[in-house]
Amino acid sequence: MTLVSSKIQSAEAIELENLYGAHNYHPLPVVLERALGVEMWDCEGKRYLDFLSAYSAVNQGHCHPKIIGALTEQAQKLTLTSRAFHNNLLGQYARFVCDYFQYERMLPMNSGVEACETAVKLARRWGYDVKGIPDGKAKIVFVEGNFWGRSIAAISSSTDPSSFKGFGPYVPGFEIIPYNNLPALEKALEDPHVAAFMCEPIQGEAGVVVPDEGYLPAVSRLCKEKKVLFIADEVQTGIARTGKLLACDHENVKPDILVLGKALSGGVYPVSCVLSSSEVILTIHPGEHGSTFGGNPLACAVAMAALTVVKDEKLVENAEKMGTLLRKKLVEIESSRINAIRGKGLLNAIDIRTKNGVSAWDVCMKMKENGLLAKPTHDTIIRLAPPLVITEAQVLEAAEIIKESILYFDRIG
Ligand code: PLP
Repeated sequence: MTLVSSKIQSAEAIELENLYGAHNYHPLPVVLERALGVEMWDCEGKRYLDFLSAYSAVNQGHCHPKIIGALTEQAQKLTLTSRAFHNNLLGQYARFVCDYFQYERMLPMNSGVEACETAVKLARRWGYDVKGIPDGKAKIVFVEGNFWGRSIAAISSSTDPSSFKGFGPYVPGFEIIPYNNLPALEKALEDPHVAAFMCEPIQGEAGVVVPDEGYLPAVSRLCKEKKVLFIADEVQTGIARTGKLLACDHENVKPDILVLGKALSGGVYPVSCVLSSSEVILTIHPGEHGSTFGGNPLACAVAMAALTVVKDEKLVENAEKMGTLLRKKLVEIESSRINAIRGKGLLNAIDIRTKNGVSAWDVCMKMKENGLLAKPTHDTIIRLAPPLVITEAQVLEAAEIIKESILYFDRIG
């Protein structure tokens, strides 16, 4: 058996993945070996600025010493008990996270898709037990362009063929309406069997789609009027990413169910959770839902450290300030390749016009060559989401790389 080598070169690492791994991703051809804060280094020692943050999981910056400290300290004491037994941290973590986000109760899971699925299960159960929907009739309303993961339930609500095509049959009881469309929501909510409406307050995977001002408050009001739960999937937008603690905070909206993941762990370990009222969370009883790893002490320690870093280092404020600076620099780029710049805080996107065969992928490849890592979403959109610890100097460096990379293609025609 070949031993693992940390001295592997990039080409060999890619070849091994191709030979032995599933081909379910199409990564940029860069092999990263270490990272700190906003910076990453490949096997050959080339430095990059990270402008993806592992899809907003690494909001606190790579290998944050306080989060790694919590991880390593806890890892030497107790890592997993399963929920067959109590552990000394889960209760403290539950109180911490409820206080932090101002909810009554939480249910811990691991990945974002599990937490979203948990929210959907909770909504169905609440629909039957509290709202009085006849058994088996509960409906959940989703929006076009949503993305909440790759499980059968998640793809059953997807409008992206690359997510759902070839994986049917799909989960019933889901209705999909256009995003940012209140009349469509009003109409969907006329059905008394609707238990919940779920959406992202800004759609991440769809290409950083920001709804109109007033959409979220109206969603919240309509849901209340019809006794429907509003589920906000803040797995990507939550935890300071958009320049507020939650993206819903931009419009002072409090979802009935809040789903968090990704940066809940600072990117070191999968931690997700669902937050809601006792009325909702307590509809699920012992033995009806769970996860071997959910709520494990390692996750609890890591999540508390990750959330503490967000407050201590004022990452909400930094995301807002650096996001404003980044957008200001990006709109100054004069190129007919740019359709639009949009976003909030440090969740931004450049909408690229494909011209002379040059796509968003090509621009990302050029940015990689120039020392910045970002990934296209949907062929024409480049999401820009660096760790929230980014400094002004790093934003300016990044803006220069992005500008040079785009203008390069204008120069060659
Ligand atoms: N919800 C949103 C908004 C996401 O962006 C994602 C992942 O990108 C998920 C849920 C799923 O999270 P995970 O990949 O951790 O299962």
